[in-house]
This record gives sequence, C-alpha cells and structure tokens, in this order.
Amino acid sequence: MTSKVYFHDASASSKKNRLDKVKSLFNRARLGQIFDKGDKVAIKIHWGEPGNVGFLPPPYVRTVVEMVKENGGIPFVTDTNTLYTGMRRNAIDNIAAAASNGFTAQTLGAPIIVADGLVGRDTSNVSLENSTVKEAKIASAIVDADAMLVLSHIKGHMLFGFGGALKNLGMGCATPAGKQILHSDIQPEVKPDLCQGDALCIPRCPVKCISLVAGPGQTRVAKIDSAECIGCGECTATCPHQAIPINWTTTPAAIQHKTADYALAAVKNKLAKVGYLNFIIQVTPDCDCCDWNDVAFVPDVGFTASTDAVAIDTASVDLVAKTPPSPNGRAAGCQGDPWRAIYDIDYRIILDYAEKIGLGSRQYELIEL
Ligand code: SF4
Ligand code: SF4
Repeated sequence: MTSKVYFHDASASSKKNRLDKVKSLFNRARLGQIFDKGDKVAIKIHWGEPGNVGFLPPPYVRTVVEMVKENGGIPFVTDTNTLYTGMRRNAIDNIAAAASNGFTAQTLGAPIIVADGLVGRDTSNVSLENSTVKEAKIASAIVDADAMLVLSHIKGHMLFGFGGALKNLGMGCATPAGKQILHSDIQPEVKPDLCQGDALCIPRCPVKCISLVAGPGQTRVAKIDSAECIGCGECTATCPHQAIPINWTTTPAAIQHKTADYALAAVKNKLAKVGYLNFIIQVTPDCDCCDWNDVAFVPDVGFTASTDAVAIDTASVDLVAKTPPSPNGRAAGCQGDPWRAIYDIDYRIILDYAEKIGLGSRQYELIEL
C-alpha cells in the first residue's frame, strides 16, 4: 500500500505565509473530513519544557484549531504529564508550563486539557494482541476523544534518533506509568572516567537513586543504584559530559518497538479518525522535553500532512536526510545521513515495526503543493 503525504516547503511570501501553507495542507490531506460535526477532536501537541524555545510555535496550533472549528469539530489541545523531573509532572505545573511557552486557551482559541489528569493517573488500559506490550496505559482524554489530530515537531531524539508523529503518539499519549514501562529496558551506567562529579544528574533523578561516591584518585563520581532505577533516561539527558550513555546495542530497538505498540494503542479505537501534521522546522538535535535547545542541524524544510502515521514520519525523516546540514549545527560537515551524524541509532526500526503492526505504510507518494 502506498500512502499519500502532502508537502509544503518552508518558504513564504506576502502572498502565502506559513500559516496559509498549513491551511492548504490541512485541506489537501482532507483532515477536516476525518471527524464528524460535533466530534470532540483532540489536538495532540508537545508544548515544550520551559527553557526550550525550539518547540512548535502556538500560531500553528491556533491555525489548526480554527480549521477544526470551520469543519464542525470541537477542538481541545492536549498533552500528558511527564515521568521525569521538570515542570510538567502534574497538570497544575503542566498548564503553567504551557502558558509560559505561549499556549493558553486565549492564544489557541480552544481549551487545554492535560490528558492524563491532575497527577497522571487518568488512565485507560488498552489491550493489544500480538505485541510486546499486552496492555498500554494511555491517557484517558486521548482514548475518549472522538477524533485526533497529531501535530508533531520533527527533531532529533537521543533514544529514538528522531521524534515525530509515532513518538508523539506512543510516548506522548502514555501516562507517566506507561512512560516508565516504555523506558524500563534502559539500564544506564556511569562511566567513571568521563564523570566530572559535578552532581548535575542527582537532582534530576525522579527516584533519587544517584549518589556521589569515591572515584579514581581524589575524585568523586556518580553511582546509580540499579535496583531503584526506573530507567527514565533523565540522567543521560542531563549529563553534559556523556558520562551516562545508553546501551545503544539493545535498548533503542526495544524502546522503539514498545513505543510503536503504544502508538497503536493510542489510536486503536479511532484508526480512521486520526490525522497528522509534521512541522519540519527548527530541527533541533534534542527533544522538546529538554529545558534548552541547540541550533537546528538542518535549515527549515517545511510541513507534511497525511492520514498515515508511518508514511508521514518516513517522508519527514527522508526530507531531512536529503537536506544539507546547517554549517553551525551538530551535523555540520556530514556527508551522509545527518540523523545518524547526531545519534548513532537506527531510527528506521520504529518505522519498520509500526508498519508491521498495522499503523501505516512506509511506502509513500510525496505530493508537493
Ligand atoms: S554523571 Fe554527568 S551529570 Fe552526573 S555527576 Fe557525572 S558528570 Fe555530572
Ligand atoms: S538513575 Fe535511573 S531513574 Fe535516575 S535519572 Fe537515571 S535513568 Fe532515571
């Protein structure tokens, strides 16, 4: 099966600005026809950790809200609570974090709902057959919505290689407990020879299982109590010296498989009523969960729209892969795939597996508008 993916490049003019391009994509991909009049339409986004300024800007979301209303849907904008320490671990902080990044009911024209509730316990358990996950813990408001539009910022990710629609669905619609299950194969270890003993990782650990112990010579180095570690990956993301690397050889495949399973669970009760828009702009090397962002490693590429999660992500990573890297970004000078220059992760595992479990097709027809 070949799925259609619609594409607009990032250029703009006085005749057609970027928001106009998003409207064109919405219409050409018939995203206004995936839901019925009166449907509650979840607009799933990632509003970014405060401190990060690389996330999807609110005007794009407002534009989609307007399009949903024009087509008779009742939109709400949503995301979930996080597993790791930060400013989005409960709905109160999460709404405040969204507001600090410019996402409010006033700026978006639709209510903001934290999909898994006050403390992340509003869960719908979705059963899956023939998967690595027998039961997925999905945020209730995602499951209860009649239809969903998944708006994803394309960027790099230290565990997946890239983040797009599949990760936004799989990890982004999971409750904190679900996120823990997704991350639990990761067993981080401190490399004592790289550890500077600055303790930056210690306050970021949600279960307080990192301490400083005696290291080589007179130094002190971090040590992880593996019996307590929940594998959230927060310490790996925090360490500025790469002293807590991930086990690249096994865990990326496991987490990609499980995340695809969770993605399927997030849309299982409304497969034909989900649409996707990917924003290939500000393609930063790291996730919007970081409270900082590095410069983009490729220039802005554009926007894609589809009703197929696998096709849109495949097309989006391909578009980035053939874009010459930015001279001041982390892939500068790379002659091959810039994704692999950032993280040495086979990021196509999730695409292959998602296709295998029926989430969509890796074969796509790119229709440039
Ligand atoms: S592991 Fe990294 S963040 Fe933690 S103390 Fe060592 S150098 Fe600092
Ligand atoms: S030690 Fe384990 S639980 Fe603590 S931050 Fe690192 S991965 Fe998360």
